[in-house]
Amino acid sequence: MFFPSGRVYRKMVPFRPANPVKADRARLRKHRRNLNGLGSFAAQRLVARDRFKSVNSGTRQWIQRLRGQLKAACHQGRCPYCEDNTVHQVDHHRPISLDPRGTFLWGNFVYACGICNGKKLHKWHVFDPATSTNQKALDPLTATLADLSLPPVFIDPRREDPADFLKIDLTGTFTLIPRYPAGSQEAIRAIFTRDQLALDEGELPAHRKRAYSYFIERLDRYTQAKAAGVATEIARCRGLVMEQDHLGVWREMQRQHGSVPALTTLFGLAPEALTW
Ligand SMILES: [Zn+2]
Repeated sequence: MFFPSGRVYRKMVPFRPANPVKADRARLRKHRRNLNGLGSFAAQRLVARDRFKSVNSGTRQWIQRLRGQLKAACHQGRCPYCEDNTVHQVDHHRPISLDPRGTFLWGNFVYACGICNGKKLHKWHVFDPATSTNQKALDPLTATLADLSLPPVFIDPRREDPADFLKIDLTGTFTLIPRYPAGSQEAIRAIFTRDQLALDEGELPAHRKRAYSYFIERLDRYTQAKAAGVATEIARCRGLVMEQDHLGVWREMQRQHGSVPALTTLFGLAPEALTW
């Protein structure tokens, strides 16, 4: 391998787990009904976390199955937020301390590492309808249903592709930068999400750069194997790319292949790699 152990690359990738089986969907529905049965929103907020914890910490087969499905959606068992650490926590995309309706909602579950889950916490911003680009922080004690219906700022990896909002500067800093113009709603969402998860902190850009070098080297070897017609080496090089952590860096290379000269050349020799 080209990297020392303990390497850290952080980006953020879409999260698309398979749907639970019918019986498990029914179990989630039952828990939602029980929580709704408490009546007031405030009462539900008070117990949501404990109720989820009690179900999630159990050894019931169905919850283990759901956790397995969430984990299976993580490339190489890595966190979809940072692409680095091993996943082991169910994160509620929309914090349940604010909105208990998402406590047992499959579409609100993301599997994450403890670091990202901890950074995300209960912080939740929405766009102020009066301005469309001003953010409003919601407070778990006072947020109303009307507040919760406002467009959220944090990118939702279940329904959106974070790479549509953030790109890696492949030619220089290897930091994450917004794809959209400064001041746009998309740019505000990109910056908020990146900063909340601290995806550009410390050595992370340098580690992304190293991942980039690895992919370049693999693609270069692939083109050499292709020119020489060595079928086993062709398959091996492709396999190594797809098995590597941090496919987000690779996906970004595919996206930017037309504007980075080294990538234009390599993908020009192996255009099929644009669809890997
Ligand atoms: Zn993480």
